[in-house]
Amino acid sequence: MEPKLQAILDDVARARGRVVALTGAGISAESGIPTFRGPEGYWVVGSRNYMPQEMATHEMFQRAPEEVWRWYLYRFGVCRLARPNPGHAALVALERALGDRFTLVTQNIDGLHRRAGSERVLCIHGDAAHVRCADGCGAGVTDLPPFAQRGKDDPFTSEDRARLACPSCGGWLRPHVLWFDEYYDEANYRMESALRAAGAADLLLVVGTSGATNLPMQIGRLAFERAAALVDVNPEENPFAELAARASRGFFARGSACERLPAIVAALLA
Ligand SMILES: [Zn+2]
Repeated sequence: MEPKLQAILDDVARARGRVVALTGAGISAESGIPTFRGPEGYWVVGSRNYMPQEMATHEMFQRAPEEVWRWYLYRFGVCRLARPNPGHAALVALERALGDRFTLVTQNIDGLHRRAGSERVLCIHGDAAHVRCADGCGAGVTDLPPFAQRGKDDPFTSEDRARLACPSCGGWLRPHVLWFDEYYDEANYRMESALRAAGAADLLLVVGTSGATNLPMQIGRLAFERAAALVDVNPEENPFAELAARASRGFFARGSACERLPAIVAALLA
């Protein structure tokens, strides 16, 4: 391990500091889940190709709920087939050792952290395993009803519709995920909890995120302003790497979660 990174991790370990891990699509990509932001995320409706940024919107759900659900049921099936990887496992080990000194904030909706064994997880973009009433009738967040694996061309059926009816009001259930035309909040997406954790962190460990959405970047800036240690794990340059370069205790650990996290966690627990 690079001496500067080792020194930062030793320092955090010695101080028995609080650690916040912020994870994004990069850690899931190593489990085979595509980011759905590139061409692999296109969805054909009639003669048109839709981008994920068009499909994952409240506006589209209002207009074509069956099409949006058909897309999500396919995507959720991809998530279910994926398995957690050594990057996820390293964060479970860190949580088990640090207890309430550890918080995991994730942008991923695939549930891989939970399935790996992480418990203190703030899912700031929601969770594919859950649904809630699209009209907000007060039924609360519940588990996604069971669905068989879907192909891209499988039709949406009347049984699907019945299964996706709100048990309280009979309207549509919606995926419990943050859409591109919606805002972060505490009730559904734990925004304030995530910011509070970041504000108290002695180390922010950023893993596999490009900072494309605004709450992750706010978390990074907050840690930076409070002079927390800042370690960015990513195969590519990104805005968190720039923040880490400017931080007094910052380090850009170039590489993937599977490549870098096991050793980083071992150093924190030494
Ligand atoms: Zn309802």
